[in-house]
Amino acid sequence: MEENLKALLSESNGHPPFQSSRLLFQSSIQLLWSMKPTSILLNGCQIIIWLPLARLCSKILCPRRKELLKNKPMNKRYLIIGDFSTRLKFYQNAVEKTLAKNRSIIILVPDLSLIPYFTKHLKNESSIIHSGLTKTQRWLEWDKIRRGDIKIVIGSQSALFAPAVNLGLIIIDQEENETYKNDRSPRFHAVEVAQKLSDLTDANLILGSLVPKIETYYQATQGKFRILRKAITQKSNISIVDMNSEKYVISNTLEKEIEGALFNKKRTLLIFNRKGEGTKFSCADCGWMATCEKCGLPLVPQKNDNVCFHCEKTYLQPGACPKCQSIKLRPMGLGTIRLKKFVNDLFPKAKVIQVEKDIDGRLVRYDWDIAIMTIYGLKFSWPKIGLVGIIDADQGFNFPDFSSPQKSFQTLFKFLRIGERGIVQSHLPENYVIQALAGLNYEKFFLDEIVQRRKFGYPPYTHLVRLLFKSVDKEKILKETSRIYQSLITSHFPLTTISPPHACFIQKERGKYRWQIVIKSSKHISHFSSLISIIRSLPKGWIVDIDPVNLL
Ligand SMILES: [Zn+2]
Ligand SMILES: [Zn+2]
Repeated sequence: MEENLKALLSESNGHPPFQSSRLLFQSSIQLLWSMKPTSILLNGCQIIIWLPLARLCSKILCPRRKELLKNKPMNKRYLIIGDFSTRLKFYQNAVEKTLAKNRSIIILVPDLSLIPYFTKHLKNESSIIHSGLTKTQRWLEWDKIRRGDIKIVIGSQSALFAPAVNLGLIIIDQEENETYKNDRSPRFHAVEVAQKLSDLTDANLILGSLVPKIETYYQATQGKFRILRKAITQKSNISIVDMNSEKYVISNTLEKEIEGALFNKKRTLLIFNRKGEGTKFSCADCGWMATCEKCGLPLVPQKNDNVCFHCEKTYLQPGACPKCQSIKLRPMGLGTIRLKKFVNDLFPKAKVIQVEKDIDGRLVRYDWDIAIMTIYGLKFSWPKIGLVGIIDADQGFNFPDFSSPQKSFQTLFKFLRIGERGIVQSHLPENYVIQALAGLNYEKFFLDEIVQRRKFGYPPYTHLVRLLFKSVDKEKILKETSRIYQSLITSHFPLTTISPPHACFIQKERGKYRWQIVIKSSKHISHFSSLISIIRSLPKGWIVDIDPVNLL
């Protein structure tokens, strides 16, 4: 068996069916993230690697790798912080240097619509890999890559698994983007996989971001990445408005600033991250509120419908309250549609538009004075805008999750960078996220956030494992989650805390209840073999997420 495997891994013929480092890579990924034998895409065909085989591979390959390392310089890792054009320039330079050494390159982007920006600036032909390709298309692309005909691979996270020959560079743009975490099994994170791949192939690794993830920046401060900070030269001209003493949704200050922008023929972006007429549809007499049958979450009123933004199911608005038969049913709270009406009334001469998913992106370029949008607006590339107003900067804090402050900061930071002037409306003006936004100061945010993460034991100070159980049967959930909890706490894992089973913030999904057990540990799960064996033996219905990006 061992001999056959060695022959299989031999790279003596020109185009080896399996590149040894690749095979080791695939098996390491499997060891790290997926607890069962999984079919993995390798050289365009699906094969199944079983764990014993994976172990055997590492046994054979490890001594060889040491040999290789003796002669090769160590790979380099960079974190480039800057806006898109700065990052692109740096990438371009690195790509050219790598091509000159006749080595290939993998570039990951969080959104396929960004690919043309890259291909436009790269002189060489590139192969585009994403999950939307058919099997045949993928096979054809992979074959070109495998033969070395194409040296640059661009795409979503699945591009990492492309059989690039003599890999010399991996670039991950917008490393903070959550789409890099695979939301299906194996639930790997592209950045971690890329680190592993760069170690095994000695390829350099570049992560790029305007607002890096806390974990990545922390690693960089510990020397794991060289930080290439392109100082943000633009002076921030941002004011915070304390909304506790304001009467209306648009504060006095913001109103005056919009007036000023209109007078100077400058445009205004207003950011409010809630679509629809309001936050809920409810009865004024008895307080009844429309909720989604499947998810249990409040429905958002939109024209004549109520929509669940979690599962996208649409319901017709009832004519009378199902509880007390009152006809006093109405949208409550604020949504972008209502905000638009409000802004129209306040500035009747201004041309106000709303930028949302269902509206053509080209509208952005048309003639308008004020644009109202949710975070969806970040998908467009905006020219410099006169004024950016954040209607409710505290919105993101409503999610009880360790990642909420970071997500809020990243989103609002990106919007505020577009404006020559910024207004941040908040009920928590002293909050550290809001304070750091006022100066567009990432470093300040990082130092405050890292203190919170340490205090409450979250990454990068701990490793998280989320065990999620879903079922339509509530009793089954209680029984099953407490059974697993008992087996976990009786095993005593050092430096590890295990939360008792509890309902997730998103309590229901597609008609199933969601409960979770969260394991926090100062060591990676791979150090606890007995914990791994408990996790491996979890029955159907359980989802294991190692290093989850949120716990909602
Ligand atoms: Zn009622
Ligand atoms: Zn729903």
